[in-house]
Amino acid sequence: MSPLEPLIDGHGRPIGDVRVSVTDRCNFRCQYCMPAEGLAWLERPQLLTYEELERLVRLLAAMGVHDVRLTGGEPLVRRELWRLVERLAALEDVHDLSLTTNGYLLAKQVDELVAAGLRRVNVSLDALAPDRFFQLTRRDSLAQVLAGLAAAQRHPELRPIKVNVVALKGFTEPEVVRFAEFARERPFEVRFIEFMPLDADQAWDMDQVLPNDEIRAMIDAVYPLVADDRPAHATATTWRFADGRGRIGFVSPVSVPFCDDCNRIRITADGMLRTCLFSLHETDLRGLMRDGGDDGELEAAIREAVWSKELKHRINDPGFRQPARSMSRIGG
Ligand code: SF4
Repeated sequence: MSPLEPLIDGHGRPIGDVRVSVTDRCNFRCQYCMPAEGLAWLERPQLLTYEELERLVRLLAAMGVHDVRLTGGEPLVRRELWRLVERLAALEDVHDLSLTTNGYLLAKQVDELVAAGLRRVNVSLDALAPDRFFQLTRRDSLAQVLAGLAAAQRHPELRPIKVNVVALKGFTEPEVVRFAEFARERPFEVRFIEFMPLDADQAWDMDQVLPNDEIRAMIDAVYPLVADDRPAHATATTWRFADGRGRIGFVSPVSVPFCDDCNRIRITADGMLRTCLFSLHETDLRGLMRDGGDDGELEAAIREAVWSKELKHRINDPGFRQPARSMSRIGG
């Protein structure tokens, strides 16, 4: 597809990164995300097909959106995900193709995903103690997740491998130094992510947020850290261990928002374009495609939505409204 005008929002920010949710379903029941019984899942016809996803990603890539991250729910529960990876990896203008997963099915699927063209993976892992893992995810599956990480590690072309830890006050503190040691002993970049108001129960409260500067202080007291420079558009700030044994990252949307140079948009599994994680509005791309809209109409709809992209989230502002759509229905 020949290059189109770059996609720019109304604040002059170029959009370069799209998070694509391929399903709202998940095989875990993390306490901070969804209730034990799960949610009312989308029916198959409501999901974008791999052909539709490829069409959207191809169009966005032609507009300069070269980084694509596949998310869920849990993306590996979508059948034959490697087929989608293969399609997207074949697109000339897709420069970076990554996946965020809870790791449960990773050991089974990583070979075919890498063969299809996957080059980066983020694994969500919030506890390293089996009982605490069970307490949080309502699944006795820590061993499978660690096996998934070990399987990913065997693919040198799959780098970096990041481990995302959602930090919760009153839960994560005993895990902090354990995760620092995990990052020091293995080729994984561990990143602590502050808990965001995107839970399905809409029960989020600032008191549940464990600020990253507290976590960093806990680690620094045991393993001194040195700050890295923050690359443009990065969601994480990273710190090296002073003795050179690895790196650790902090994604701090609540305490240190990084919206100023945000270059991200999202596509939900049912084909809605979200210009911010906390958007209260969405644009229906699925309907436009299924009503026979051509690429010109799709492009126009995307540009119009992105032109009104939110300047920033308003979590810390009075009157903040949590989006109706929860994280598992948006994708990270
Ligand atoms: S909260 Fe919205 S504007 Fe801020 S970094 Fe996230 S997606 Fe971008």
